[in-house]
Amino acid sequence: MLTNQRSCKCPKCNSSSATKVSLIYESGTVISTQTGGFSSSLNGDVIDRVHGKLHTKTQHTTKLAKRVAPPKRKEVGKAYKYGAVGSIISTAFIGRSLDLSRGLLLLMAIPTVAISVYCIKKKREVQAKYEQEVYLPEFRKWNDSFMCNQCGFIYELKMKRNKFINTDTRTMSIDQP
Ligand SMILES: [Zn+2]
Repeated sequence: MLTNQRSCKCPKCNSSSATKVSLIYESGTVISTQTGGFSSSLNGDVIDRVHGKLHTKTQHTTKLAKRVAPPKRKEVGKAYKYGAVGSIISTAFIGRSLDLSRGLLLLMAIPTVAISVYCIKKKREVQAKYEQEVYLPEFRKWNDSFMCNQCGFIYELKMKRNKFINTDTRTMSIDQP
C-alpha cells in the first residue's frame, strides 16, 4: 500500500523501513461524497410523488492519520484585532453618550480610523512573522518526518530542502463506486 520514500534508519530499532508521515496522513484522510437517492409516492391528495437526491460529504480520518496530522496554523495577534474593533466601538460609545455634534464625531473618527489601520497592519505583521518563524519550520519538520514500519517511532529525516512544499495535503477525494 505505502511505499518507502528513501532509505533511512530508525534511531530506535535501526530498521530501514519507514513511511513518510505525510503519506500516512494522506492515505488515512479521505473526503468522500456520497450520493443517495430517495423517492416516495403517496396516493393521497397532497403529495403524489417525491423524489430527490441527497449529498453527504464526510471527512474520514483514521486514528493513525490523526496521530500524524500536520501542524495547525494558528491565528496570532488577536490583541490588535480587538484594538481595532475596540477603538471603533469606544468612539461610537463616547459619541453617543456625550451626544456630540456631527463635526466633533467626524474629528474623532480620524484618530479612530488611524488606530484601526495601524492595528490591522500590525496584526498582519505578527501573523506573517509567526508563519515564517513558527508555522513554516513546524510544517517542514512534519514534512520531513518518517514513521518506522517496525516500531512506529516517528523521526525527522534531514534531507535536501525541496523548493516545492506540498501544502495541500488536507484534501484528497475518492470517487464513490
Ligand atoms: Zn523503529
